[in-house]
Amino acid sequence: MYYDINVILIFILGLIVGSFSNVCIYRIPRNESIIYPASHCPKCCSKIKPVDNIPLLSFILLKGRCRNCKTKISVQYPIVEFLTGLIYLIIYLIYGLSIQTLIYIILSSALIIIAFIDLNEQIVPDAISLPGIVIGFILSFFVYYISFVDSVLGIFVGGGIILIIGLTGLVIFKKEAMGGGDVKLAAMIGAFLGWRYIVISLFLGFFLGALTGICLIIAKIKSREDVVPFGPFIVLGSFITLLWGEKIISWYIGF
Ligand SMILES: [Zn+2]
Repeated sequence: MYYDINVILIFILGLIVGSFSNVCIYRIPRNESIIYPASHCPKCCSKIKPVDNIPLLSFILLKGRCRNCKTKISVQYPIVEFLTGLIYLIIYLIYGLSIQTLIYIILSSALIIIAFIDLNEQIVPDAISLPGIVIGFILSFFVYYISFVDSVLGIFVGGGIILIIGLTGLVIFKKEAMGGGDVKLAAMIGAFLGWRYIVISLFLGFFLGALTGICLIIAKIKSREDVVPFGPFIVLGSFITLLWGEKIISWYIGF
């Protein structure tokens, strides 16, 4: 049977990057350095030994508790690690050993970090989205699968759609539904994926966001007045699009 060792390697790479992403998700909103100090338990401050810092495995072996003080470790840690490994793996299976795979895995890590910071703190960090817009634009000059015109259009179409919807919501409902953070996030994704993909991403994001909102209201977990962060849905929509965008487009044209 043919099998590709890279599949395993890329998944492990994703787990390791996911482990580092957890550090970013915790520290970036707190304006802490993502390098120093080394990982430590947020409760008892004891340093986490390398053997207890193995993605996924350590969480299972330690039964989700700090070795020193037995405080529960958030289940978000293994989730972020596994998600990163999984998305790396699917990107590789679709795009193979290519520059597109490399750029897409970097983009997806940035998006996972943004999505979880938004879930936890209801902010989209400028520290990632603003450099992301610039990097996506610069890269478009060097890669074959997106032109710089498409990248620029992506920035303005992506940011513009959210801006218009946000302003409309503000005028009609007198409520801030989408913040400036979402505008910059959509612009960043547009810079990497171009105008067609950002339109699909946002459409999927709105759809999934509305669906989730309705489910949460029906299940009485949230009320109509609660604000559900929109960033994670934009990210989810863009993941679906960067993986299966061409399929979605040819399906749509087939109608
Ligand atoms: Zn501890």
